[in-house]
Amino acid sequence: MISPVLASSHNDPDGTAVFERMESNVRTYCRTFPAVFDRAKGAMLYDEAGRGYVDFFAGAGALNYGHNPDFIKQRLIDHLLSDRMVQGLDLHSGAKRDFFERFEATILEPRGLDYKIQLCGPTGASAVEAAIKLARRVTGRSNIASFTGGWHGMSNGCLAVTGNRAHRAAAGAPLDSATFFPFEDGPYRLADSLGYITHLFEDPNSGLDLPAAIILETVQAEGGVYLASPEWLRGLRALCDRFGVLMIVDDVQVGCGRTGSFFSFESAGIVPDLVCLSKSIGGYGLPMAIVLMKRALDQWEPGDHTGTFRGNQLAFVAATAALELWGQQRFAAELARRAAKLEAQLRAIVAARPKLALRGRGFIWAIDFAEAGGPAAAAAAGRRAFEKGLLIERCGRDDVALKILPPITIDDEALRLGCAILSEAV
Ligand code: PMP
Repeated sequence: MISPVLASSHNDPDGTAVFERMESNVRTYCRTFPAVFDRAKGAMLYDEAGRGYVDFFAGAGALNYGHNPDFIKQRLIDHLLSDRMVQGLDLHSGAKRDFFERFEATILEPRGLDYKIQLCGPTGASAVEAAIKLARRVTGRSNIASFTGGWHGMSNGCLAVTGNRAHRAAAGAPLDSATFFPFEDGPYRLADSLGYITHLFEDPNSGLDLPAAIILETVQAEGGVYLASPEWLRGLRALCDRFGVLMIVDDVQVGCGRTGSFFSFESAGIVPDLVCLSKSIGGYGLPMAIVLMKRALDQWEPGDHTGTFRGNQLAFVAATAALELWGQQRFAAELARRAAKLEAQLRAIVAARPKLALRGRGFIWAIDFAEAGGPAAAAAAGRRAFEKGLLIERCGRDDVALKILPPITIDDEALRLGCAILSEAV
């Protein structure tokens, strides 16, 4: 941080010159939200001038439990003060044991799931890379099927299965061994996408190389908050079983309670072969990513996919604390109550403006401006929201929609305030 004296001597009253001078052009969120942030608590952020903002972005989905929740913070402080190990190699540690035991007891066992856990590099993209690589290894096939509108990360393997043309172009290298199919819903909807996929899988002369895996988000987040129906997901699961294609659910953004349940696929009653989790699994916004794999799929040899950061101890501590919430009965009831409240307030906002479309479930929603001025109108609404004290990001084709992504623990007052600002902004 530039000291006030230095800042003024550089004619830099808001202390942002160093970012221009030193930080790569690639930076992005700071352009959408041009403040210098300082404190953060719950669903609120405060800039250096002390101005408060309601956070409907939640660290791009990494802060489902809000900023600096006290019960997690205390565990982190205790860990640090007692000089417990902090490094990130995949050494055994008490913090890792606590996390595995808690995840098994609180998340997997009650849902009848029997997964092993692979610790990946600390980002969502590294979980997706690991899942794709494992699927290829297990099946001996190279092609990966994915969906229009899908988003899986910025490394080359992830970009190959990500739909966004501009991001693909930035790779600067061929992105191959992937085949796209139309997602069930989206602005360019195909009446029967599952029928189309089935057709290509069934016809031995279709020209399609049967994929190792099919990767999908059950709720496409960056793609514009498009939801797959439970029937479609079950149909896809059956198709995968029929053709020995592994199903990878990328729950990086919509896992950890974002849709109202811990996993996004629970309500469809399907069990993916592989699940990618990151963002909020780290509990406190700390970097962490894991792949859940059915036991029989754990066909790695030791060290086949190794790395330096394979389990940040502080993230284990925070993750374990956060998972304790999921063991509390009243937590689920509270989530349902808050999600209903959010939905009601959003419905009220669009009810008064019939050209806006609303999509979503749980704690992820989009207000779509396609029929109401398009991307420019969405951008203007987002800017206006920020000016009035609300962080909200855009999503969808050409960023045509505002994405509502508050912490799932947001209190009623912050929710009311955020929705009031949103209403004015749209
Ligand atoms: N998958 C999904 C569904 C995502 O939303 C994202 C990030 N927006 C990623 C993967 C990549 O995660 P990361 O940015 O942490 O690499």
